Amino acid sequence: MSEQYSFYEQVNRGFDRAARMTSHDPRLLRQIRACNSVYHVSFPVKRDDGSMDMIHAWRAEHSHHKLPTKGGIRYSVHVNEDEVKALAALMTYKCAIVDVPFGGAKGGIKIDPRAYSVGELERITRRFTAELKSKNFIGPGVDVPAPDLGTGPREMAWIVDTYNSLSSGELNSVACVTGKPIPLGGIRGRTEATGMGVYFGIREACAIEDDMKALGLGPGVDGKRVVVQGLGNVGYHAAKYLVEAGAVLVGILEYEGAISDPSGLDLEALVEHRAKTGSILGFPGATDLHESKDGLELDCDVLVPAAIERQITRDNAPRVRAKIVAEAANGPTTFGADEVLRERGVMVLPDAFLNAGGVTVSYFEWVKNLSHLRFGRLQKRFEEMSNRRLLSAIEAQTEKRFDAEETEFFALGAGEADLVSSGLEETISLAYLQVREIKLQYGEEADLRTASFINAIDKIAGCYQGLGIFP
Ligand code: NAD
Repeated sequence: MSEQYSFYEQVNRGFDRAARMTSHDPRLLRQIRACNSVYHVSFPVKRDDGSMDMIHAWRAEHSHHKLPTKGGIRYSVHVNEDEVKALAALMTYKCAIVDVPFGGAKGGIKIDPRAYSVGELERITRRFTAELKSKNFIGPGVDVPAPDLGTGPREMAWIVDTYNSLSSGELNSVACVTGKPIPLGGIRGRTEATGMGVYFGIREACAIEDDMKALGLGPGVDGKRVVVQGLGNVGYHAAKYLVEAGAVLVGILEYEGAISDPSGLDLEALVEHRAKTGSILGFPGATDLHESKDGLELDCDVLVPAAIERQITRDNAPRVRAKIVAEAANGPTTFGADEVLRERGVMVLPDAFLNAGGVTVSYFEWVKNLSHLRFGRLQKRFEEMSNRRLLSAIEAQTEKRFDAEETEFFALGAGEADLVSSGLEETISLAYLQVREIKLQYGEEADLRTASFINAIDKIAGCYQGLGIFP
């Protein structure tokens, strides 16, 4: 049974399944699949009470076919070498699928961030950054971390500050990490990027009437019943954009339990309730499910696992009632579960494409840092003036008179946030259409995950073939 395989082996089994369908040389496929380097470090940290903890941390750079490598850093008790290698490999394929010019990497610190004070977390983060720097595992042209599970802009701020202090005068040092706060070189739209990308991906899939018909669903996001696992960065934002587009949030799962309400949960009220009580349970009007994972089996159209890996397994996959599983998290479906879902005709929107919004906007942030220029700064005002001239010309030639609201709407020049969200929408929409096209080319055998892998393999193979080493 495939469930005995580790996370990294599961990712590789998905790769192998797709690789067999391509005609690439097996040696080239082995090169693409191999994890290029892994760094494991352990260091002591002094706790606030004077005691000492030994910290274990990893950074895996899966593929150097493009540099820098890119991928988040997570803080979780489950972090281990196998996990970071699996996640780094997914990053390699993800970057290729959305045409972001990076190799894949991932890092992790094996801690429960809730068990440490802010000061302790800062000491741990700064020490890990110094360790990465000393081994050349971080740098704008080497390896560029980003937020992931348990980390966010605050941790990225500590990372860039530590890196800056160790690299005096390096012109592009601010590009050593993405997901930073805006004043420290971050970009507008990075925080919500992954969740927004998840929404764009689901919207794109739901827009194709024939595909929805095959699932017994109507087209569009409007009215779709959605369950989300994980109310963190990705889960919250995915839920927010889906609800704004008319989806009905019928269930939420967190580590403390799950809740359901077929008539729809009020997302903002739920966030407030959790902030006040420390739990999603006991939310007025909703039913509590004390076993959180039972929420994966709630009656819905779209299930969005947005928490951690290996949540849908061969064991519970037969009971998943959703018609679409939208993998906002990395690796939430095991290889065995994937087989069950495929046989049952469930559409799985794979992580490697669906949650690529984060790395896409991280790419924009990296480019912004290297250019030392905010997107939109040069042209926003120029566009506005051109548009105003055009409106005046229309008024001069016609009876039409634009009121203040219309003028503001039509004259608008694109600022950073507009450009980021439009670049993100273009990237995710295009990636979905490409992957779907490959799926159609390969026929019954290829689901969307296999098609995503084939897409990535072909693109990475092209890089190696260009070197003349492989046929
Ligand atoms: P986060 O820490 O902000 O949120 C994760 C949420 O999941 C938390 O609210 C946590 O309490 C909850 N959770 C953890 N274990 C759970 C469990 N067993 N059952 C139910 N809920 C649980 O992390 P995030 O950044 O939102 O990342 C979530 C997933 O998305 C991860 O798999 C991550 O690798 C992936 N991802 C994140 C980004 C990003 O930009 N942050 C990008 C791509 C992929």
